[in-house]
Amino acid sequence: MKLVPQTKEHVVDIDGLIAAVTPKTKMICLINPNNPTGTYYTKEKFEKLLKTVPQEVVLVVDEAYFDFADAPDYPNGFDYRNMHPNMIICRTLSKAFGLSGIRLGYAISTPEIVDYMNRVREPFNTNLLAQVAGIAAFKDTDYLKNAIKVNKEGKEYLYKEFTRLGIEYLPTQGNFMLFKVGEAQTSGRDCYDYLLHKGVIVRPVANYGFPNWLRLSIGLKEQNETFIKYFEEFLKTVR
Ligand SMILES: *Cc1c(COP(=O)(O)O)cnc(C)c1O
Repeated sequence: MKLVPQTKEHVVDIDGLIAAVTPKTKMICLINPNNPTGTYYTKEKFEKLLKTVPQEVVLVVDEAYFDFADAPDYPNGFDYRNMHPNMIICRTLSKAFGLSGIRLGYAISTPEIVDYMNRVREPFNTNLLAQVAGIAAFKDTDYLKNAIKVNKEGKEYLYKEFTRLGIEYLPTQGNFMLFKVGEAQTSGRDCYDYLLHKGVIVRPVANYGFPNWLRLSIGLKEQNETFIKYFEEFLKTVR
């Protein structure tokens, strides 16, 4: 397996992936929008990849945060099935639908690929109650619309507040965002500990190579405000 690092803008490096393809390449795994950065690759980049990669290579596109993506040039994998039939698009009910507890996700692919997947998957399928709940969730379009709206308002609020506080952040296409706490390599950990004691849990991302950044889940309005209140307090202790 070959890992292709992200670009310096923290985006999946499509040109790097194209350069890494050899006649032995069987599968390429993509994620869009990306976790934990919230960044995305564009339609233009995706189309370039599709034009370059041989048809027999299987493209796996993880679109767990698809519902939150609102950039006009975000490529919905579903629209490209005819350009590259050997594609597996993975989605989940765990994020925008708020149903991680039912452990339900799905993939969209060709009958041929699905047949191979059925041969190797565990003997028992995802449970019946989860399937019923999933179908009900898909019909509840108001819930989904509201979740997307709350997330969008939350991210705009957080962008504004981070800018006010002079904090670098990555604009996001997901329901979380990455922000830079400070220059010190321990700053991510220090801020995480401070917030934890105030009852706000964020995600350290040192294991992804970002020791002085944190990942924040976008919450409800009051939760975002609570986070900002304590984060500002933390900054006063270090600046
Ligand atoms: C959450 C997530 C998934 C899917 O998670 P499940 O809860 O197992 O459905 C897949 N990929 C990424 C990048 C995720 O963040």
